[in-house]
Amino acid sequence: MVEEIAKISINKVSDSRLPNVDWDNLPFGKVFSDHMFTMDYFDGQWQNPEIVPYGDISMSPATSVLHYGQSCFEGMKAHKDNEGNVLLFRVNDNIKRLNISATRMCMPEVPEDVFLEALKSLLNLDRGWVPSMDGYSLYIRPFLIATDPYVGIRPSVTYKFMIFTCPVGAYYSSAVPVKIETEYSRAVRGGTGYAKAAGNYAAALYPAKLGQDQGFTQLIWTDAKEHKYIEESGTMNIIFKIDGKLLSPMSGDTILDGITKRSVLDIARSWGMQVEERKITVQEIITAFENGSMEEAFGAGTAATIAPINRIHFNGQDYLLPNAGENDFSLKILNHLNNYKKGVVADEFGWINSI
Ligand SMILES: *Cc1c(COP(=O)(O)O)cnc(C)c1O
Repeated sequence: MVEEIAKISINKVSDSRLPNVDWDNLPFGKVFSDHMFTMDYFDGQWQNPEIVPYGDISMSPATSVLHYGQSCFEGMKAHKDNEGNVLLFRVNDNIKRLNISATRMCMPEVPEDVFLEALKSLLNLDRGWVPSMDGYSLYIRPFLIATDPYVGIRPSVTYKFMIFTCPVGAYYSSAVPVKIETEYSRAVRGGTGYAKAAGNYAAALYPAKLGQDQGFTQLIWTDAKEHKYIEESGTMNIIFKIDGKLLSPMSGDTILDGITKRSVLDIARSWGMQVEERKITVQEIITAFENGSMEEAFGAGTAATIAPINRIHFNGQDYLLPNAGENDFSLKILNHLNNYKKGVVADEFGWINSI
């Protein structure tokens, strides 16, 4: 630990908005909990850690992040167990990944212990916002932005780190049609694909919209050079079940190292399944459809957890997957992961932090 950070100051809301929440009509990411955490970086140090009522922040129109996108974020979820404890799932992995993203975007790291302490204090204060109903959770959005009011292009010397949270219901997770994208690219070797950098998502909107106009909910990204290898599905990692075996493209430069995917594969291995993480060609996927060995395909990511795919479009042709049945691996792993996150099954991997 190089930096000594001041104690977090806490300014509570006078009236909680919690009683006004309509739990039966909870749109994803639009309802915000009472408080947020903020901390500023200046003079080469993180300073002024504060928990304050959730609200707008003001900034100069010249603020660097607004122009050049020096920004990165994380996404995680908290659940409540039967005793009312707030449970975090693999939070240290999210903290480490924020710092990997920060380094790539030329931003200062957030000390891991400060991040965890901030998150715990925030969740402790807003624990009433962590739902205990089935299918619900508290989505957590930490992010880091460049705040210099300066129009020149260079790394900012001031930054803001914030965390806010949103109670969310079950993500829409009936099976979706997807298209293998062979024209646009999400990430290139040497680029920022492995970072949760804001600009990656802005750049993906247009190709995703073109796909949606053709009736595909998501794109399956392929490598930018040859469009020959499978990379990710939208903003999720992709996993196939072929001939009883799980297959997923290896994370790397162009594929974000997803915690949900890693968890799915770790649990599957512990169940004795065969798992392969490696380069996967589009042709291999098409061949698996053609010879009848393709069993399942699904996205894996924090927001949806598991998003089954029912149709894959490639080169003018549709390849169909049967709708998820109760014996499907995707459904079993979804239930298991949900139970794991809510403390219903034993924490055999040591993934849970309890608050
Ligand atoms: C966040 C993200 C994922 C999923 O990561 P999780 O840690 O499982 O939430 C996958 N791909 C991209 C591009 C992402 O941004």
